[in-house]
Amino acid sequence: MEYLYVHKNLVPINCLLTVVLAIAYFLAGWLGLSFAIPPGYATAVWPPSGIALVGILWWGQRVWLGIWLGSFLVNVWGSLTTSQTEISVAGLAIAATIAFGSTLQALLGALLLKRWVGVDRLFERGGAILRFAMIEALSCLLASTWGVTSLCLAGAVDWTLYFDSWRTWWLGDLMGVVVITPVLLGWRALPHLPRQPWRIAETVGSTVLLVVISVLVFLGPLPLSENDAPLAFMPLPCLVWIAFRFQPGGVALAASFLSAIAVFATSHGTGPFVHQVATGESIFLLQTFTGLSTLTSLTLAAAVVGQKQAEEKLLKLNAELEQRVHERTAQLQELAQELEVQSLTDALTDLGNRRAFQRKLTEEVQRAVRYQMPLSLLLLDVDHFKTYNDAFGHSAGDAVLKELGLLLRQHSRTTDFPARYGGEEFALLLPHTDKAGALILAERIRQVVAATLWRYRAVTVSIGAMTLAKNMDSTVLIDQADRALYEAKRCGRNCVVSATE
Ligand code: GH3
Ligand code: MG
Ligand code: MG
Repeated sequence: MEYLYVHKNLVPINCLLTVVLAIAYFLAGWLGLSFAIPPGYATAVWPPSGIALVGILWWGQRVWLGIWLGSFLVNVWGSLTTSQTEISVAGLAIAATIAFGSTLQALLGALLLKRWVGVDRLFERGGAILRFAMIEALSCLLASTWGVTSLCLAGAVDWTLYFDSWRTWWLGDLMGVVVITPVLLGWRALPHLPRQPWRIAETVGSTVLLVVISVLVFLGPLPLSENDAPLAFMPLPCLVWIAFRFQPGGVALAASFLSAIAVFATSHGTGPFVHQVATGESIFLLQTFTGLSTLTSLTLAAAVVGQKQAEEKLLKLNAELEQRVHERTAQLQELAQELEVQSLTDALTDLGNRRAFQRKLTEEVQRAVRYQMPLSLLLLDVDHFKTYNDAFGHSAGDAVLKELGLLLRQHSRTTDFPARYGGEEFALLLPHTDKAGALILAERIRQVVAATLWRYRAVTVSIGAMTLAKNMDSTVLIDQADRALYEAKRCGRNCVVSATE
């Protein structure tokens, strides 16, 4: 039901589009014929071929009848205006045949373009423009060959003029496609109207300059003769400027102005392409000029767009890369911090390890010396720990060491620094603590350890204590504490011994 509904509504739309295309084709043809170049009244640029191609590209093959109708009517109208007589049945048949060729040409051109180049952002891709020109040059062979052959067969054109007519027709159709297609397809890609005053001035300035130079070259007041043909390229720097500063849509429009002025001037007998002797040559020169200036400026604009896109892409990639580097650096810093912490922490007890202890000791000794503050050190060693391990197993021994670490933390101040010094040896650094204070703490720890039951068995520790004396460095402090510890062992263990200087 829904499909039927949609389908029913498509018929009037198709008819409307077909009629619109037929009218557009006819008007463009009328415009083209108005600028036909005497004496043969051939057209250097045939805009309807561009209209037909864009019609198929926009609305699809369903509007083919619009091209046929437009072409038929424009041919009938053309022969009526040139011969000034009533058109015969044969004339109508020739117009219908020519219209058939033009329709086929537009269908073929659109098909090849879609298949081999793609219509999306066509004029923003440098390489695509060259392929577009080649494909359309190929498809435009169709209508010209078809039309001129029909005209010659019908006797409307002499066979001796076959090649010249064919070439003019072919290039005229091709120029129509080359000039009109970018304007219509690039319409949506036209830059938004600039708001900054200097950009508005630039837009107006470049357009005015292009028009003024083109008018000067092609229409006067300097009447250029055929010998001045190279001067026809004077407006090109303006096109280059526009190609650099504006999107392909803008340059397509500018190139179409230039082509229109050149065609208008030549058809009115002025400008550098007016060749009195051989009109065919002047048309050929005009077509070459139109085609080359349009295609060159389009390619340049596409290259500029490509460069801009590449720059934007590069900037985006760069920003992404910077962001990634930033993230990775943060991750690495975090990792480094974690490694630093790990390298200073004892995995079993979570206390500082020997490295951390050495670092802290050096710092605290320096501080104590500078501020003349007392500093004490306790060295603890578990008594008969080997026996404990042998009796209860290594994991039970580990649990004891862990608990011991916890006890040391609990019974010391936050400013104190407990560390695992070796296997079952611990160190407790006591800043701002003199000998008396250190001995009180050591005794308290000894008692707490002895009172704690590990697997129903008390574990004891021997403790050696030493307080920093004048001119004593950290090594001596440790040695002295170690000596005291040895002494405690010797005295029967589970006791505190303080070293004297
Ligand atoms: P002493 O009273 O003379 O200190 O006797 P001890 O058995 O404690 O002395 P020794 O230094 O000969 O033995 C230390 C023991 O500590 C040896 C080892 O089995 C144990 N030990 C060292 N590190 C660890 C550890 O990380 N885990 C466990 N479970 N035991 C350890
Ligand atoms: Mg030991
Ligand atoms: Mg021991």
